[in-house]
Amino acid sequence: MVEKIEHIGIAVKDIEAANTVYENLLGVSSYKMENVESEGVSTSFFRTGDSKIELLEATNPQSAIAKFIEKKGEGIHHIAFAVNDIKAEMKRLSELGFNVLNKEPKKGADNKLVCFIHPKNTNGVLVELCQEIK
Ligand code: ZN
Repeated sequence: MVEKIEHIGIAVKDIEAANTVYENLLGVSSYKMENVESEGVSTSFFRTGDSKIELLEATNPQSAIAKFIEKKGEGIHHIAFAVNDIKAEMKRLSELGFNVLNKEPKKGADNKLVCFIHPKNTNGVLVELCQEIK
């Protein structure tokens, strides 16, 4: 079971420029910038109450974010749901026929274990599950 929307991921071409836009828009500053080498992205996080906004810029042309922007342009890339037990959720969703894209949870940005669910099973929305690393 999902606990809440943890964050919404937004693909951007220029994270420095987007940081300024979102700082103005939200009235808060980014509280964390982090490179996720394995995903080829640079990220920036904003608190918006109980949820967050994650900006993502590709750091290499093979990155999923680079491909997304090439195809669709900038915009909402994924919705991340917080879960208590990511392995149990991955198993539950696989059994229901969802296309869970990772065999094992992997280390994502912002101190999280994450996995992704292919948008073809979720009405076109790329879904991330994430569990806080304690
Ligand atoms: Zn995310």
